Amino acid sequence: MQPAFIHKCLMILAVSIALSDCGASGSLVAQHFQPTRLEFEGTTMGTCTWSVVVYANPEQSLDIQAAIERSLKDVDDRMSTYKPDSEVSRFNTSSSIEWFDVSADTARVVQRAQEISLESGGAFDITVAPLVNLWKFGPDKSEFVVPDNATVDALRKTIGFRKLSVRDNPPALKKSIPELQIDLSAIAQGYAVDRVAIALKSLDIDNFLVEVSGEVYASGKKPDNESWKVGIEKPVVGVRELYSVIELSEKSLATSGDYRNFYEVAGKRYAHTIDPQTGMPVEGGPSSVSVIAVDCMTADAVATAVMVLGKNGGLELGRELGVEVLVLSPDYSNPGMFLAAQTDGFPTNKSTARFDDAIDNSFWRTLVVASIFFAVAIIAMSVGVLLGRQRLRGSCGGLATLDDPDADPSCSLCSAPGKKCRELKKAITNNQHDTTTE
Ligand code: FAD
Repeated sequence: MQPAFIHKCLMILAVSIALSDCGASGSLVAQHFQPTRLEFEGTTMGTCTWSVVVYANPEQSLDIQAAIERSLKDVDDRMSTYKPDSEVSRFNTSSSIEWFDVSADTARVVQRAQEISLESGGAFDITVAPLVNLWKFGPDKSEFVVPDNATVDALRKTIGFRKLSVRDNPPALKKSIPELQIDLSAIAQGYAVDRVAIALKSLDIDNFLVEVSGEVYASGKKPDNESWKVGIEKPVVGVRELYSVIELSEKSLATSGDYRNFYEVAGKRYAHTIDPQTGMPVEGGPSSVSVIAVDCMTADAVATAVMVLGKNGGLELGRELGVEVLVLSPDYSNPGMFLAAQTDGFPTNKSTARFDDAIDNSFWRTLVVASIFFAVAIIAMSVGVLLGRQRLRGSCGGLATLDDPDADPSCSLCSAPGKKCRELKKAITNNQHDTTTE
């Protein structure tokens, strides 16, 4: 039963699973796999799936379930742009430029978002909200139409993280222009993972794995001292395959990508990461970015920042922040393949491609095809000799260089045997025949 569960777990945790896989439904379920192993799962923030595995006393099940639910509900109620009465939605619709009271949770998330905005040079910017909505990646699910440049430019003037202030005592937000809005979708799911982890630790549970919409935090280990393993998905549209599996402990992993949540118009893909500089969806960037950090809020936000910055800028940001980054980019010379680049500390395993993966793959592909070709040729030649002693016609290739004691080429396989060879063959045939009739 355990291997089956591990497989299921890896599939659930294939990190990009959740990029838009918020369609799964299901009520909260607690199952006892083994006496101390408890599983919980459900949906949150619309239809996003979450799952938690803990090793704990089964009698704690109800408390654990309640703690998880409360943590997720708090984040959803406070930070959703899909709920008109959430703190974020009320802040967005307010035109006041005075301090706007929010919960400590919301202030904390906005504070971290602002720090990452500064560190990423504005690549990460929660004030992109109006552009997220314009490009139909927010609550407005009406038909997608590519907006004109004038509309994009007009909205671009209303964004900018420097137009937003945050304080923690008392917790509040402040906009410097009435139109400013925020969108915490690229950071709040990670924060939800952190909140669940804190709640579990407060119940004295040390060994658990939390996943919310593909963002993950792993604490401790399994009882057999085995590490938690988390899969990273290949960033391929419509395909669910693992790129690699990594071990996590006291760390978070978050992934952003362009292959789940996007529109395609006239062969051009418009994915949900917005470049605040241009106001447009990122073009020609990575297919996916995975980030490992101590807290999931940071991992989640940095993954989006790297999607905007691209491979080089993204890896540099990762090094500056002391987080590990894996960037998978499309290999345009090898359609369907991708190139991997990562910071030194990003864990790899056998199935993890290196940056020159495409080159390695084409070499091995050529070697395998050539080997198969030669194997088939040799088998065919052997079969030809065995069946009816028929000679192969045409070139003898390397076989022509094999000599008999008289220095004649190996005539039995050659299409043009010499005179000596024919005589030898005739003698052998007569001899065989004689033996048979005896
Ligand atoms: P990520 O890569 O982590 O984030 C991408 C998102 O970040 C974009 O969709 C955009 O919103 C934002 N973004 C884009 N560019 C930038 C940038 N440069 N800087 C900062 N942010 C950027 N969806 C629903 O359909 N229904 C719901 O009821 C619902 N409720 C939600 C409640 C909450 C509290 C949250 C956080 C999200 C909710 N969502 C809901 C949104 C949905 O789950 C999103 O698809 C998800 O948050 C995006 O996460 P991701 O991991 O797919 O992408």
